[in-house]
Amino acid sequence: MMKEMEAVAKAIEEARLIAVSSHENPDGDSLGSHLGLTLVLRSRGKAVFSSLPEPERYPPQYRFLPGRDHLSSPGEMEGIPDLFVALDCSNLDRLGELRQLAERAGLLVNIDHHEDNRMFAPINLVDPEASSTSEIVFKLVRGAGWKVGADVATCLYTGVITDTGRFQHLNTKPETFMVAYQLALEGADISRVGKEVYESQSLPYTRLLGITLQRVEVIEEYGLAYSYITRADLAETGASLPETEDLIDYLRSVRGTRMAAVFKELEDGRVRVSLRSRDEFQVGPIARALGGGGHASAAGYTSQRDLQGSLEELLDALREARGGS
Ligand code: AMP
Ligand code: MN
Ligand code: MN
Repeated sequence: MMKEMEAVAKAIEEARLIAVSSHENPDGDSLGSHLGLTLVLRSRGKAVFSSLPEPERYPPQYRFLPGRDHLSSPGEMEGIPDLFVALDCSNLDRLGELRQLAERAGLLVNIDHHEDNRMFAPINLVDPEASSTSEIVFKLVRGAGWKVGADVATCLYTGVITDTGRFQHLNTKPETFMVAYQLALEGADISRVGKEVYESQSLPYTRLLGITLQRVEVIEEYGLAYSYITRADLAETGASLPETEDLIDYLRSVRGTRMAAVFKELEDGRVRVSLRSRDEFQVGPIARALGGGGHASAAGYTSQRDLQGSLEELLDALREARGGS
């Protein structure tokens, strides 16, 4: 582990033009690690091309993050970067259209904490024990002796609390609190992060939440609580999909269930499926069987079927996983 960290620090020191990116469908950890590292590299005098594969899907609750004005659109890159850093991506497809740039770069570095990481780069700084990619970035920056500072700490702290569900999920270790403590010492704006991420939902989303919760069904056979969001719901309420990231946590909270699923109808008719589990039950293998991936207790995939079809597909996969017919 230490060896990879040193190799990444060295690769960064030696590079002049560095591209930084993170996964499609961004979340608190992908954005926190991405913007935090972007700020660090800039303050070290690097030319940084920082871009998201899907800038239009930037969730509004992360607009406050420092460093967001340094983001460029994916098509804007000129030249070949000496180094490309992929953050919070278990495989190269997670980079969407930025995959080509990653493959053309002088050197590719993979920084991640997914257990199903494909180790797709010459240098893989991958630690499935880490709470978040933001935690790994913090250790990298600290280990290299680079300055952290309040803005970077705010970004990284956001990644830690969102990926651990505010220090609640099984990936929360004693070490996680140590990292949070050090980020707090660096000046992370803890109350602002809490307020922006968890207490700033829009009125349209609040109404959409009502509609979605009203529809929750439980299939006792599988201990599954599920609901869905249609394009019509979005049009009717005025809410957008990126702001619905936390909605599934309400479903996971239903007593007596062991997993939750939310089916989200996309513009092209496909369905984005989010899975979360309680306790030791693992949804990662189920998402992988359906073409996606993720962690043991938080995973997802995109189904080619419609809403009804994708529910049937999930139930088939659960039956299969149980080994029955
Ligand atoms: P989501 O429900 O979209 O928030 O995703 C939950 C977790 O699953 C995150 O850790 C994602 O990185 C991971 N994940 C979601 N979709 C995919 C996918 N298509 N391939 C690999 N990992 C995914
Ligand atoms: Mn992520
Ligand atoms: Mn993550």
